[in-house]
Amino acid sequence: MVPFAQKLEGLGYLELQAAGVETLQVNLGWRCNQACKHCHFQAGPHRSEQMARETVDEVIRAAARWAIPVMDLTGGAPEVNPHFRYLVDRLYDLGLRLRSRCNLTVLLEPGFEDLPRFFRDRRVELICSLPYYQEDLVDRLRGPGTFLKSLEALRRLNRLGYGEPESDLELHLMYNPAGAYFPPEQEALEQIFRRELEKRYGIRFHCLYTLLNMPIGRFKEYLQRSSNLDMYMGKLAASFNPATVAGLMCRTLISVSWDGRLYDCDFNQALDLPLKEGLPQTIREFDRPILESRRIRLEDHCYGCTAGQGSSCGGRVAGE
Ligand code: SF4
Ligand code: SF4
Repeated sequence: MVPFAQKLEGLGYLELQAAGVETLQVNLGWRCNQACKHCHFQAGPHRSEQMARETVDEVIRAAARWAIPVMDLTGGAPEVNPHFRYLVDRLYDLGLRLRSRCNLTVLLEPGFEDLPRFFRDRRVELICSLPYYQEDLVDRLRGPGTFLKSLEALRRLNRLGYGEPESDLELHLMYNPAGAYFPPEQEALEQIFRRELEKRYGIRFHCLYTLLNMPIGRFKEYLQRSSNLDMYMGKLAASFNPATVAGLMCRTLISVSWDGRLYDCDFNQALDLPLKEGLPQTIREFDRPILESRRIRLEDHCYGCTAGQGSSCGGRVAGE
């Protein structure tokens, strides 16, 4: 397999450079009420990594000083961090666009039942993971009972106006495959999800995003156990689509980890591949102009972002 950086060199990208910093993705920690089989952070209830209050304050300072257009909160389950609501409130006060990634079941946990209203009152856009519209497959990936709980959480969000056709309370779903295969074409799958969720359960949402399983974390362990890692990497490399390169999410996003370190994306964070040498390395040193033209750190897992229709935390990559 040709190394990813070399593949890009062949296309004339001697270095892949950022094209701005439109989004600051904040990983509040690796604790989660679930422990999904495909999780690239190996998150779960046993994890102790959580963003501390002083790091949260550094995030707020950076967001305010550099007027970051979009704040994207993730984890683990970001909501279980004790400073989550404080962070959302401060960012809301700053008038920044807020997005939070939600596994749905957390909204049913004791002490978290009021979160849908909390989100609604602060106009938080929600991106909720739902790997399929059928119970057996979701429960196999995410644990028994997950599907029914996810439906209940979606119903509660719909009742508040989230995901309704004319509503500006944005509710999007995130799909990822159950195994070592690529997601179906995003728009076609969105239509199927929309039809099936409405018909079977009366549930509505705005957009569906497809995310390919990256060959890292628990999914990589699964590929190794099933002797499929080489096959999967080969498939990713063979499906390289040059039209995805300009729209790679790392070109407009920076990721900050629970301990305040900076990464080109969430996947590099999971692999502990920090920003290139000479660049700001922590949220305390955040400097938007420098980061906006930074050179991006690329390794072979990046083939997961450029295969086929492309893949990112915002779904397929535009430009295909
Ligand atoms: S995939 Fe999401 S919901 Fe599942 S364990 Fe990881 S962080 Fe939690
Ligand atoms: S994994 Fe994807 S988003 Fe991250 S640096 Fe590689 S290409 Fe960019």
